Amino acid sequence: MDALVAGYRRFRAAGWPARRTLFRSLAERGQQPRALVIGCIDSRVDPTMIFDVGPGEILTARNVANLVPPYQPDNASHGTSAAVEFAVRIMEVPDLIVLGHGMCGGVQTLLHGAPEGARDFVAPWMAMAAPARRRALECSVVEDRQQICEHEVIKVALANLMTFPWIAERVAAGRLALHGAWFAIHSGELTILQPDGSFAPVAPDIDSA
Ligand SMILES: [Zn+2]
Repeated sequence: MDALVAGYRRFRAAGWPARRTLFRSLAERGQQPRALVIGCIDSRVDPTMIFDVGPGEILTARNVANLVPPYQPDNASHGTSAAVEFAVRIMEVPDLIVLGHGMCGGVQTLLHGAPEGARDFVAPWMAMAAPARRRALECSVVEDRQQICEHEVIKVALANLMTFPWIAERVAAGRLALHGAWFAIHSGELTILQPDGSFAPVAPDIDSA
C-alpha cells in the first residue's frame, strides 16, 4: 500500500494539475463515455492504456477473463450485468467491446481447473464459458488451445450480451454495436474479431508509419 500512496502523491503533484480543468469540466457537464469495455482483471491489460483514452472517455468493467453471464434478472448480485445495464440503458453508449488477452489466468483455470484454494467463485464463474473450453479441446495442437480458448471466451461473452433483450433491441435498431478484441501481452498487438470468427490485426496507421 505504501507504494500506491507514494504514487498518489506523485499524481497529486504532477498528474492532477495538468488534469484539473478536464476534471472540472467532467464534474460540471457529466460524463459522456463513448463505449463500455469489458476486460479482464489482469494487471497487464489496461483498457485505457491500450485504447489511449483519458478520464471520461470509456466505461470499463473488469472481471476474471472478461466474461458476461447470460441475461438473468433474478435479484441476485450480478456485478457485470449491472455494469452492462448502466452503460447501455443509462449512459446509452454506442459500442460494447469485449477485450480478451493472451496468457489469461482465468482461461487457464477454465482449461486446467482452478487451484484448490480458489474454487469458491472462480470455478463457477468460468464454468459459463464451458463451450469455449470444448471448442479449444477440439484442437489437436495442445499449445494452441490456450489462445483458441481466449478467442472463444470472447465469443461466449458476446453471445451472452445478445441475450439481454435491451441489447438485442438496440443492436437490431443500429443504435449499439458489439465488438470483440484480443490483446497480445508479449507483443502489445491488438486483433479485432471479424464477421467470419477470425481475429485480424488492426491495420497500421498510414500517417504514423
Ligand atoms: Zn485474463
